[in-house]
Amino acid sequence: MPTAGGAVDVVVRVSDRARRLLLRVARDGSGPVVVVPPGLKRDRVAAFVISQAEWLQGRLAALPARVPFVAGQVIPVGGEPVSLVQGGLRGRAIVRDGAQLIVSGDPGLMSRKVTRWLMAQAADTILPQRNAFADRLNRPVDRIRIADPRSRWGSCSSRGTMTFSWRLILAPPSVLTSVVAHECAHLVEMNHSPRFWAVVATLWPTYPADDAWLKQHGAALFHYG
Ligand SMILES: [Zn+2]
Repeated sequence: MPTAGGAVDVVVRVSDRARRLLLRVARDGSGPVVVVPPGLKRDRVAAFVISQAEWLQGRLAALPARVPFVAGQVIPVGGEPVSLVQGGLRGRAIVRDGAQLIVSGDPGLMSRKVTRWLMAQAADTILPQRNAFADRLNRPVDRIRIADPRSRWGSCSSRGTMTFSWRLILAPPSVLTSVVAHECAHLVEMNHSPRFWAVVATLWPTYPADDAWLKQHGAALFHYG
């Protein structure tokens, strides 16, 4: 749809449970979605979206700006600001030099390379912490997966396989550790009972503040890349 700020794509999602038209803007930057009850005519949906243009524009303008992984951008890595710097066009290396991340090669590949590097940093940070917590709980460990889930920061299967969001490496270190402690506590309690939270508290006593940080600032981590 056209707005003063330029054209905006709105995804149409038909939902059996929807009772009325609903326009949503997720804070993760995934774009506006209009939820439509079944059987509604296309032009009614279009008219509704256009009637909401001003509201939509306001919502989109209020979202934090995207931070693409291109030269000149600064991203937080383990709590430290790191500048993305284009290295030599010939090389392929990606090297951290203090507060700089120097990415050689085709600038068009920088985003993908930085994402892969951050995933590796996340794995290198999370794995030893996970192992140490599991040791303290005297529980066997399985592999970990580093992925980009949209709805949760970590998960733990009944077999003890854990998945973590690579975006945790963009959060302060204690926030990342709090998520690791949370998933490790699931090795003991596969629920969110008071017993579960007692285990989390023994592993990582600052978890309430860290989890609160994630609630407040977590959506902004999806604006990177
Ligand atoms: Zn949980």
